[in-house]
Amino acid sequence: MKEGWEAVIGLEIHAQLSTESKIFCGCSTRFGDEPNANTCPVCLGLPGALPVLNRRAVELGARAALALGLRINERSIFARKNYFYPDLPKGYQISQYDRPFSERGELELMTAERDDAGHAREWRPLKVRITRLHLEEDAGKNVHEGLPDTDRFSYIDLNRAGTPLAEIVTEPDFRTSWQAYDYVNHVRRAMQWVGASEADMEKGNLRCEANVSVRRAGEGFGTKVELKNLNSVRFMQKAIEFEIERQIKLIESGGRVSQETRLWDERAQETRVMRSKEEAHDYRYFPEPDLPPLEVSAEFIERVRAELPELPDARRKRFTDDYGLSYADAAQLTSERTLADYFERAAKSAGNPRGASNWIRSELLRELEASGRRADESPVAPEELGALVRLIDDGRISGKQGKDVLVEMFKTGKRAEVVVAEQGLAQVSDAGEIGRVVEEVIAANPKQLEQYRAGKEALLGFFVGQVMRASQGKANPKLVNEVLRKKLQG
Ligand code: ADP
Ligand code: MG
Ligand code: ZN
Repeated sequence: MKEGWEAVIGLEIHAQLSTESKIFCGCSTRFGDEPNANTCPVCLGLPGALPVLNRRAVELGARAALALGLRINERSIFARKNYFYPDLPKGYQISQYDRPFSERGELELMTAERDDAGHAREWRPLKVRITRLHLEEDAGKNVHEGLPDTDRFSYIDLNRAGTPLAEIVTEPDFRTSWQAYDYVNHVRRAMQWVGASEADMEKGNLRCEANVSVRRAGEGFGTKVELKNLNSVRFMQKAIEFEIERQIKLIESGGRVSQETRLWDERAQETRVMRSKEEAHDYRYFPEPDLPPLEVSAEFIERVRAELPELPDARRKRFTDDYGLSYADAAQLTSERTLADYFERAAKSAGNPRGASNWIRSELLRELEASGRRADESPVAPEELGALVRLIDDGRISGKQGKDVLVEMFKTGKRAEVVVAEQGLAQVSDAGEIGRVVEEVIAANPKQLEQYRAGKEALLGFFVGQVMRASQGKANPKLVNEVLRKKLQG
């Protein structure tokens, strides 16, 4: 960022809770069905239809809050947020306002600035204040694509109307785009980890808005711009970065930032005005008369807490404490729950957690990434990765051969033993056989033998190389060294 300037960023995340049915009616939340197939009088907003709260949405909302380390209000109030929009047939959205599900929380996450190549520099803890996490219903969708006469007609699909959301709002506590990036990933992972939300930005079940302003060091907050249409965490980071630069340039050239909503245009790599927001919206919030206050007992909260899986930070700590992994390695292995599960199974089967960690991080993840798969979709089962690590630890194959074996296992789904047998890779660990090769090599190199015996011990490497070559790389190097030392003494 330009000397003397500071950015101020606050984030709003909408996470779709993974319920089967909508938050106030029994309609399915399935994605991709025929437009308007999953609707009823309640989610169509027909007069006289009454909402009934889906308990599962509350349970998943509680999971989301607890996964982020937030407190839950035992009593919260649903409220009507009134505005007109074609995809909102009731003319209001049922949300929460004065008394949300959770408020005034704080969480800590690890964050790092990245260089131009995207490599993280030093990781540091960052505290973020969470203003609120509340429950609300989603609106429907205006659709245009692939439909006739869109210059004259708007099409509306209300399948999404009434889908449960958790909205999570932060205080303006971020100072860089990478902090915002790490926060969204933190929230995304937490949601997925506890099964509260699929939290996939590309599918739109995690949506994110960034509020960005800039100020000269020591000044009060500047006017903020709201950024939308951020379809991935990386797009969001780039949009924020662009916006910071744009605002600084604007102010330095004598202009002033106007409060507006801007969209990220990935093709043009810039933000563009969507609408100005000079006047504050008046949503005329009032308590929803058709729903009683939402009461959740302390026992309910404790039950949900007890059902949560071990959370990422706890698991990362256990990986460093119990398995002796470095902080960075443990952090990488807990970046996703399926990966953490994979690692633990592989470590157990290998009997060597550090080895399993190394092979997963350096070799397996590359294959997974290249094929766009998650750890639980790996064609190499964790027990088989463990078996491969054992083959290497036992000296049956070399580390270098192990890499090729893993690639083949990944490609064919074959077991480690099978690939090793098929490719005739197993190392020769028979001392007698190695001894014969060693003798041949020594006999063929009398000059080197003489120099070695005269004290030029560095020649051991030469002999090892010759033996390895003669055995086509299959001889167990440790054994070759032992046998050579003995025979070279004469
Ligand atoms: P609005 O009513 O426009 O939605 P809010 O006060 O509810 O504004 O804040 C929305 C989001 O904007 C929050 O995440 C908040 O932290 C953030 N925010 C508020 N003021 C600023 C600012 N000056 N610069 C950047 N972000 C801000
Ligand atoms: Mg807002
Ligand atoms: Zn419905």
